[in-house]
Amino acid sequence: MIGAVVSGGGAVAVFGLARSGLAAARALATGGADVRAWDDDPARRAAAAAAGVPLADLYAADWGEIDALVLSPGVPLRFPEPHAVVRLAHARGAEILGDVELFARARLPARVVAITGTNGKSTTTALVLALLRACGFEAVLGANFGEPVLALPTLEADGVYVLELSSYQIALTTSLAADVAVLLNLSPDHLARHGGMAGYIAAKKRLFEMQPGDRAAIIGVDDADSRAMFAQLAADGRDVTPISGRAAVDGGIYVELGVLYDSRDGAPRAIVDLAAARLRGEHNHQNAAAAFAAATALGCDEARAAEALLAFPGLAHRMEAVAEIGGVQFINDSKATNVDAAGRALGSFDNIYWIAGGRPKEQGIAALAHLFPRIRHAFLIGEAEDAFADALAGQVAVTRAGTLPRAVSLAFATARDSGVADPVVLLSPACASFDQFTDFEARGDAFRDFARLLEAAR
Ligand code: ADP
Repeated sequence: MIGAVVSGGGAVAVFGLARSGLAAARALATGGADVRAWDDDPARRAAAAAAGVPLADLYAADWGEIDALVLSPGVPLRFPEPHAVVRLAHARGAEILGDVELFARARLPARVVAITGTNGKSTTTALVLALLRACGFEAVLGANFGEPVLALPTLEADGVYVLELSSYQIALTTSLAADVAVLLNLSPDHLARHGGMAGYIAAKKRLFEMQPGDRAAIIGVDDADSRAMFAQLAADGRDVTPISGRAAVDGGIYVELGVLYDSRDGAPRAIVDLAAARLRGEHNHQNAAAAFAAATALGCDEARAAEALLAFPGLAHRMEAVAEIGGVQFINDSKATNVDAAGRALGSFDNIYWIAGGRPKEQGIAALAHLFPRIRHAFLIGEAEDAFADALAGQVAVTRAGTLPRAVSLAFATARDSGVADPVVLLSPACASFDQFTDFEARGDAFRDFARLLEAAR
């Protein structure tokens, strides 16, 4: 089915053979397409060849035979500049698309919930899955989180695909008509890849523009850019539900003082008190409100959805409590790869021994200054050491720890000897991990391992 959806009979190039590219190449080849796959990394090429994917060096290929390029979302499409393979595709006039677009064109009968936003996507995607399953739906999750979308099982018409979509994936998608589309929030991230904030916002907005006008749209209104998008869609006559993790919103779903309310039908109704849930903090309340809105938009029973919110265990690497030694708590928030996410974690504790750093993002940490009083001591790692030390100078005690193991043991020793109440060793790096780790998961796993070693050794 997938093989026939891309081209006018010519070959299909696939560039980038990590998990999603590999799944796309396999699905295309299985579907009968003439696939020419490539990756700069010889190990990835070898893995693809072993999986039966036909390889061709796309830098040297005859592009006259190629009608479409399936691009991995990690490869620059436009900014900072188009990748060399993208230029070759443009020169040939070949269509450029991503695996989510292939999925969309396969027109599977099941419904789709598509979730995007700067932060909270994975948590919300996992929540929507949990709520739908609690309501008896056959649901699977995938795309940017979990399995690549083309590796998901085929669902029947009453099934639901719950898809987390990054801005990069949306940029490579043109016809995904999501039954429910969710935007959680917008804050600066990945700006170099979108040519600035306006480009980043435009990429996210396309999720709603691809939907037929009568499909459900759910938008967080807790930041100005998302609020503006909500107002635009509402003005266009769209069925758009506002959600907030912070305050009452008319006609929407929101959490106020820990209680989730539904005001979609007018007067607010209290649905569930989240005080007993693992979903702590305004940001998680935003995620809970979005998930409740999405699941009930598909007909999920309210009471069951509420129970599932209370039962949700939380995800690894997102404010994950991993160890506790003599009153010192260790929190793994490795997924906080940008400033806004790290700010959520810093705002959740009072006496913080903060492990931060890695490969910094454009905007630095100046926006976190109001949270500096909560930080008793910062332990810096990776490429961001100098910049973060400068930003904290004179306001927060700083140790340049260099590496994560050193940061964990220094942070623990300092916290233990501090005598302050409820000290927290918090890994919430506000940086990408790639200078020292393969990804944020490896960084979080390493933190968890070190903390548990210390715990075992006490
Ligand atoms: P994403 O998939 O969008 O990166 P995650 O659910 O993996 O989102 O969470 C990423 C980071 O952002 C974590 O550090 C988490 O604590 C924080 N976070 C989660 N939800 C939100 C939210 N709604 N707003 C801001 N930060 C959030």
